Amino acid sequence: MAVRPPWKRLGQHFLIDGATIDAILAAVGESRVVVEIGPGRGALTRRLAAQAQHLYAIEKDASLAASLQREFVGEPSVSIKCADALREDLTAYPNGLRVVGNLPYNVATALLQQWMGARTHLTDLTVMVQREVAQRLVAPPGDPARGQLSVVVQLLMEVAVLLDVEPGCFDPPPQVMSSVVRLVPRRELPMPEGAWQDFARLAQQAFASRRKTLRNNFPKLPAAVWTATGIDPGRRAETLSGDEFVRLFRTSSRAC
Ligand code: SAM
Repeated sequence: MAVRPPWKRLGQHFLIDGATIDAILAAVGESRVVVEIGPGRGALTRRLAAQAQHLYAIEKDASLAASLQREFVGEPSVSIKCADALREDLTAYPNGLRVVGNLPYNVATALLQQWMGARTHLTDLTVMVQREVAQRLVAPPGDPARGQLSVVVQLLMEVAVLLDVEPGCFDPPPQVMSSVVRLVPRRELPMPEGAWQDFARLAQQAFASRRKTLRNNFPKLPAAVWTATGIDPGRRAETLSGDEFVRLFRTSSRAC
């Protein structure tokens, strides 16, 4: 049967480089429960199945999902589901799961944001994203790549870039570099568990207009808040450290 060409709209760039596949599998190691996002033609799936006690793979492309379902039909420890990962609730899977995937780039950021809400259910995430997204995830204070995603993800998770991956490692090659990142949920937050969504909204407002100062992005915040936090409102959001954001969050929550 002829193989259908990859679909651009589903971000189909299949891994073909053995060394990259080895590196991802080595980074994941033996696991109890793994959820693979976008298994595609199975480059990671076969090896993950051998390393995990149970592997769940979620693939949106019906023909690729069907092909993997045929391949793993006799293996009860592998479940291939044809579904949109954006609609999957990871908390419905066994607790302590590990998320792995060469993520479709068009939905990678949306998936990461969604998984923040499932973070207490996860052991870690080892995922390939566009290098630009990886740089945003790890961007320190003062880095031009720092934005709301950086601040919120760094509050909730420890993030590290494991390796950069060249376009030639994929078929077809994407136009951009990629990176594999590891995210490990923090067990303790510097705020009550349910408060981080409000923190995320504050961070969003801080970056509402990147060229504006904090004072201009928070026009209604009383001057006393800036005094109490010791943060100069003439600064821009990307210069604030995670601790300063937490201080601003706590003080403004008390003031408003
Ligand atoms: N894991 C394979 C590999 O590394 O060769 C494929 C990776 S490819 C970058 C992304 C895969 O995610 C494709 O198989 C694509 O069909 C699938 N995909 C795209 N959007 C998806 C979604 N919303 N939910 C689940 N899978 C999706």
